[in-house]
Amino acid sequence: MKDWRESSVKAKFWTKTGTNGRVNCHLCPRECSLNKNQMGFCKVRGNSEGELHSYNYGKSVAATEEVIETEAVNHFMPGARILSLGNIGCMFTCDFCQNWQTSQVKHLDPSVVQFYTPEQVVDMAIKNDIKVLSWTYNDPVVWHEFVYDTAKLAKEKGLINLYKSAFYIQEKPVEELIEVIDIFSLSLKSMDPEFYRDITKGELQPMLDATKQVYKSGKHLEISQLLITERNEGEDDVRKTVQWILDELDASVPLHFVGFHPAYKYLNVKRTSKERLLRAREIALEMGMINVYIGNVYEDEMADTKCTECNHTQVKRFGLTTEIVGLTKDSMCTNCNHPSSVKFPFMGTEERANTNTSWDVVSNKDYTWNEEVKSLHLASPVDSNECINLQVRHIGTEIHRNYILGDGGLSRVIVSRSTAEESGIEVRWDKKTKISFMPVLDRAHFPIAETVDEVR
Ligand code: SF4
Repeated sequence: MKDWRESSVKAKFWTKTGTNGRVNCHLCPRECSLNKNQMGFCKVRGNSEGELHSYNYGKSVAATEEVIETEAVNHFMPGARILSLGNIGCMFTCDFCQNWQTSQVKHLDPSVVQFYTPEQVVDMAIKNDIKVLSWTYNDPVVWHEFVYDTAKLAKEKGLINLYKSAFYIQEKPVEELIEVIDIFSLSLKSMDPEFYRDITKGELQPMLDATKQVYKSGKHLEISQLLITERNEGEDDVRKTVQWILDELDASVPLHFVGFHPAYKYLNVKRTSKERLLRAREIALEMGMINVYIGNVYEDEMADTKCTECNHTQVKRFGLTTEIVGLTKDSMCTNCNHPSSVKFPFMGTEERANTNTSWDVVSNKDYTWNEEVKSLHLASPVDSNECINLQVRHIGTEIHRNYILGDGGLSRVIVSRSTAEESGIEVRWDKKTKISFMPVLDRAHFPIAETVDEVR
């Protein structure tokens, strides 16, 4: 197994300070000042003999096929299949992090690290008919050089780039991102500076400034806020967030209040209650926000998109399952013909074209949904290079979907509960190869084990 720290590339956004080889990193606002051979706070950038290097260039967790709603994006290509890419390290150390096994390098199991080039990532998306690359999970900020190079290449090949981030980042790198990223899904953790200082070990204001920079650029922007039990779920917190969006952005920016599950060191609390999430949405609507959604609640009417003119349902959602029911291809309401702010409906939603439709079932396994688990990553062994045809039947519904694992290195796909009536899934595939069923506890969670014990 390769050691991910053995290789590095010269980083961007740094300066030498003094004559003793000390450097300052200017990627995130933390501004680490590093002596020779010292690593930064994120543990993936460091001083290599007087130069700042990125140690995680092209070092990723397994690229995974998901859907765009996984990333708290409801107004751009609803239901589109995406290729999710996460790396290692983070500029924050939140004690509630759901991806702590990859974001906090001290907990990293090196065997989960995959090695990709920009060309491999783009080829993987194209081979699998996926139109969106999603830079996600731990946080893409600390992967900047690889994200930029790959996103630039992807854009040249006609792909769309989505950036899901807590966005603790400086102005110059944001300028670079704006060149290549089409969709920003930014996670504002709280409007309380103390929350940032105490829990993330960062600062609030730079995140707000970077978000305004994206907004002013005109790029597609959606904001999400995880409502964390006994931390930031109060009505005043919600009002402050909404007021800031109304003052500095505008009422039409899609806003997602997202349910939290206990994770990492913040375990002795409950999940966010549905009532809290509903109240947050009610407050935001009362204050004038137009597009407000609830995330991580698998029930009807939590995240539907309605016409702002006639209230006709345009996109129905259940968890991560999307059905466009009231929009034309050019995004007009089918009831009143009013233009919708949902961009490119019906694009990128098709299953991967599969010429091999007749295959024999060699293996099968069922899974029953439960209170805790409503989505799974189905994963082939990362070192397997055979193509596996998979069919997933959603029990209690008419839904069957086909997937292919292994083509171009794609080794995971997300599958989720699609209706209230659905009890589970039946999975069949055409090889003896083991497929792992890895519980995804919430959106943008990258599981690294088959059980949920890792986070409880
Ligand atoms: S990106 Fe990493 S090394 Fe650079 S300032 Fe932020 S935490 Fe420090």
